[in-house]
Amino acid sequence: MAVNNHVAQIIPQVPFVDPSDYRPENKHKTEFRNFNKDLTNRVYQTYKKMHTFQTLGYVRESKQRWTRFNRTEMSIMDALEMLNNLVDESDPDVDCPNSFHAYQTAEGIRQQYPDEKWFQVTGLIHDLGKVLAIWHEPQWAVVGDTFPVGCLPSDSVVFGFESFENNPDMKDPTMNTKLGIYSENCGLDNVHMSWGHDEYLYQVLRHNECYLPEEAFYVIRYHSFYPWHTGGDYYYLCNNKDIEMLKWVQRFNKFDLYTKSPEFPDIEEIRPYYKRLVDEYLPGKLKW
Ligand code: FE
Ligand code: FE
Repeated sequence: MAVNNHVAQIIPQVPFVDPSDYRPENKHKTEFRNFNKDLTNRVYQTYKKMHTFQTLGYVRESKQRWTRFNRTEMSIMDALEMLNNLVDESDPDVDCPNSFHAYQTAEGIRQQYPDEKWFQVTGLIHDLGKVLAIWHEPQWAVVGDTFPVGCLPSDSVVFGFESFENNPDMKDPTMNTKLGIYSENCGLDNVHMSWGHDEYLYQVLRHNECYLPEEAFYVIRYHSFYPWHTGGDYYYLCNNKDIEMLKWVQRFNKFDLYTKSPEFPDIEEIRPYYKRLVDEYLPGKLKW
């Protein structure tokens, strides 16, 4: 396999964080997604690697490798347990294990959308693709904002164009234009996004028995595509269906982002409720 050499040399870090060490503080909305220079270096470093190594070739190869679904078989609840061991290095707002974030997001949705069960379960599972990091994929290939590869990054991509200076695709004339390898309004389904937990979980759900509606698939596949759902960019790659679905991705984002602080839900108490939803929408063991 022609993975570039840098990839193998980067040792993924999957730190174990004791939940009792986490001290949530009340955050104002303007304090989220603060990617400025005072940030702990780990966020910038993760993005710098991502913007250097996520090439079209890398994305194609990762898709091939991970859509054999021969890694393991496990239920959604098992996958949630696994995320207890993962802290997302790209996220300036979360220092707690990702399974907490899953329940917080789901509970936030449940409060505002008590009847939209599919939306609640989507909140619960949206980050399960991060199991990739536990299976030793480097974090720059798992977490963080996503962007289309095979064309120039837009200005709204975090840390901007300079952070792509060492990406070999930027020197390829078939890719270093606004549209690159794509045609205007070709539809996001025809666009290769940078490889990470969004696309991986999307592929897993497409492959397995799943009764979620199309809106849920959009939320899962594009929730990290900030340049699109928040930046208002890349509409030139979208078709009508993408634009139609965008509002659900945006509705979802509010819960993904702003439920990250204050208090933790009592997971023991709410788990049975979510287990029932999972049994309804995503039953049994899934192939990963
Ligand atoms: Fe995510
Ligand atoms: Fe999330």
